[in-house]
Amino acid sequence: MPHWSTLIRDIPDFPKPGVTFRDITPLLADADGLKDCIDALAEPWRGVALDAVLGIESRGFILGAALARVLGTGFVPLRKPGKLPGPTVSQAYALEYGEDRLEMHVDAVAPGARVLIVDDVLATGGTLAAALELARRQGARVVGASLLLEVPGLGGRDRWDPDLPIDVATAR
Ligand code: AMP
Repeated sequence: MPHWSTLIRDIPDFPKPGVTFRDITPLLADADGLKDCIDALAEPWRGVALDAVLGIESRGFILGAALARVLGTGFVPLRKPGKLPGPTVSQAYALEYGEDRLEMHVDAVAPGARVLIVDDVLATGGTLAAALELARRQGARVVGASLLLEVPGLGGRDRWDPDLPIDVATAR
């Protein structure tokens, strides 16, 4: 377990009873922790041809932008509905009750662009699967996913393409 993973704290019963929220704000606030966790996220992808990092709102923006800087790529935000100002493509995904959507600008990635999807936590995998679908619908070539941590026992990986790598930095 990397040293910086101790800076991620558990908040019980947030945002609702029974959920343990994995809070990365103490990690983000720590200069060494932030630097080392971004370096750890970057490690498996150094030397991989990449055009853009796609970050999932909202903690995927923070991690993804820093990761894009380290890997020397552009950054593309995948946002909650109604936030992006230009024409968008939208992908729905199921929640425990109801559904949510992720959106991306239609011109955010060029066809054939090689992209890496980034978020902080993999739980049921619905969000990550929606991001994959959205990127592919725009013609991007997804090379994998990069996460800080995984909530075990929720089957998150089962919803991802088994032929694509998922890297979980705290698991290394
Ligand atoms: P899921 O679609 O169920 O895999 O949920 C992943 C998304 O919800 C990510 O964007 C996470 O930031 C957030 N999330 C889900 N569960 C947690 C958790 N226990 N702690 C922190 N964030 C979570």
